[in-house]
Formats: sequence, structure tokens, C-alpha cells
Amino acid sequence: MGGAPFPGRRRTAAPGAPAPKRSCPCLPLPRKPRPKSGRPVWYGLLVLLFFAVDFCCFSLGNTEQGASLRHQADEFNASDETSGTYVSSLSLLNPLAADITVQKGPSRAEQVVKAIAKAHPKRVREAVFKDGDWAVELRGKWYYYADGRMLPEDLRGNADLYSPQPFYSYPDELPEWQPPAPENAARYAVMTKQRRTSRVANRAQSFYDDLWQVHNRAEAWAQQKTISFLGKKILVHRAVLEELALVEQKINEAAAADPQVRQWISRLETISAWNWRDIADTRTRSNHAYGTAIDLLPSLRSSQETYWLWTVQKNIDWWDVPFSKRMNPPNAVIKAFEAYGFVWGGKWLFYDTMHFEYRPEILLLNGIPLRGEY
Ligand SMILES: [Zn+2]
Repeated sequence: MGGAPFPGRRRTAAPGAPAPKRSCPCLPLPRKPRPKSGRPVWYGLLVLLFFAVDFCCFSLGNTEQGASLRHQADEFNASDETSGTYVSSLSLLNPLAADITVQKGPSRAEQVVKAIAKAHPKRVREAVFKDGDWAVELRGKWYYYADGRMLPEDLRGNADLYSPQPFYSYPDELPEWQPPAPENAARYAVMTKQRRTSRVANRAQSFYDDLWQVHNRAEAWAQQKTISFLGKKILVHRAVLEELALVEQKINEAAAADPQVRQWISRLETISAWNWRDIADTRTRSNHAYGTAIDLLPSLRSSQETYWLWTVQKNIDWWDVPFSKRMNPPNAVIKAFEAYGFVWGGKWLFYDTMHFEYRPEILLLNGIPLRGEY
């Protein structure tokens, strides 16, 4: 590819750190606008309903297929999070959601914090209900669910300043391609035009900063290690070394039996991981800044799309690109990553098909078993 068309915020390099590698800006995540003070509540609600449905890192399973609307519902849950019942107002917008108006069982708060504890047992202690909310202890510090925001005690009083973390639905398999309904396509067009001017809150970063022990560029650099992955040198966080070695082993095993996997490996032009930057057009740290995301970019054919914002630059309606026109890795590669806790950006509505990131809690939340050793 040419120069990165959507560079993140530039920062001063730490002494001794190499120049950042070019890679995808990855998952620009506009988030829920919040009502401004001084405006009526209905105004804020309308704005929220308009943007929040899809402008928040939705996976394909939610929006296009109508098969898994849990995340959309979760986005709207609020007051009953800790009571064991949660109510969705999504049915106001989408009739497909009518059958999930009320769900019984563990609250979303309980599900999320327990998934986090299970996904990161070396770093996070068991989840408990504490001080009126579900919480996890991370290296001696308590983090509360706070409607998806994962806030430490001192930020709980200012929860409205932050948008939720993306604990989204993620399909086990890529669903059959269906073009979006005209009303959804129209909404995507509006969102694409307005994404740079929308006033959105940023996520509180301290939970994932503490999880990876990365609070600035120098700390991030200290956590990185150079490894060889599918024949290329990359910098990754030390915490995912074992997982990536197992992913590579699984991909090589698949390649031995499958010529399509061998061809995909042979076409890989660049592989990159650590890159100190924010998510495009946000002030939220990209997983590349932690060294827990990896981009694998083969030589692209002109008819292939890989990242939705690059597609926008070509004046193509990104939501109209069928899976067959996207640069998707072989399924065996996707499964190899997922087996060890990495999600694939090709399953996001705002697709990024070169991108994998370590989010085992997302897989657990969606009932996708991790086959790695933890
Ligand atoms: Zn990426």
C-alpha cells in the first residue's frame, strides 16, 4: 500500500525506539454522543439513538444479519445492569430486536467482568460484586464495570465523561453476505460523513493501560520484544509471546495441508504489530500501542478491499463491499488466531481485514472457546 492514509496522532519517539512501522489505523470507533447540559433530555436521547446503533465497533453478527443483536441491546442497557434483568430499548429502532426486549440471567456487568477475569488470569483476580457494581481487581486496584466503562474508584463519579469499552458481539463464523437494508446504508453514509465532526467522549484508558502496564510510549517500548512471525520480524508485547507462537504453529500446520494457506503466506508483504498511536480520529489508544494487535497485509489486488476507511478514500461505499471482494485471510488463519485469544477485524461492521488483536474476553463473552493454555 502507499503511505498510511489515516495516520494516528504523532508523538515524540522514545530514545532508542525504532520508527513506527506503517500499518492500519485500525478500528476508528466513534462512540455514543452524550446529552449536553442545558439541552432537553429528548434531544440527547435522539442523538444517542441515531449514532449509537452502529457507530460503535459493531461486529457483523449484529447489524447486517439481525442474528445477534446482543451488543446493540447491551449498548442501551443502563439502569438494570446489576439486577439480573436487562431491558433493551433497541426495539424502538429495529423491529428485529423486538424478541430480545427482556432477557433473564446474569447481568451484562457480571458477564463482562467474569469474562475479563477468566481471560486474563495472570493479571486479573476473580470478579466480585462490590460497592454496588461488579468489579475486578487488577494488580491491587479495583475496576468497576460502570456500564461498560471499566472505571477505577476515583473516576466512578464522573462516568458520564467516558464512553463504554467495546464489549461487542462477535460471530463464530462469518455470516453469509447480505447487502445492508437501504435505511442502514443511508445511515452509514451519514455516519461516514460526520465521523470526524461528531462530538464523542473518549474511553477511560486506565484499565487496559494497567492491564498491559503501558501508560506512555517509554513504558510501551519497554514491554516490546522482537519476534519472527511467519518469516517477518515484528515487535509485540511480551505478554502475548506464547499465544503468538502457538498461533504461528497452528498456521504452519494448516499450511502443510492447505495450498490456499501456503499461497496466503507467500503473498504476505508486510506484518506489523507495535506502533505507538491512537485509534484513527480518536484520543483512545489503539491496541497497536500496547503491542497486542498485529496486521498481516498481503499484496492486494485492485479489486480487493481490506480497511473500510481506505475503501472510503476510493469513493466506494464501504458497506456495499461483499466479503468476496475483501482481502480475507483463509478461515484456518482466522481460527488459529481465535484459538489463542485474538479477534479478527474482518468480523467488524467497520471492517479491517488485515487486523487481529488480543481480546480473549470478547471471545469468551460470545461463547467461543479458547483452545490455548491459560
Ligand atoms: Zn491493525
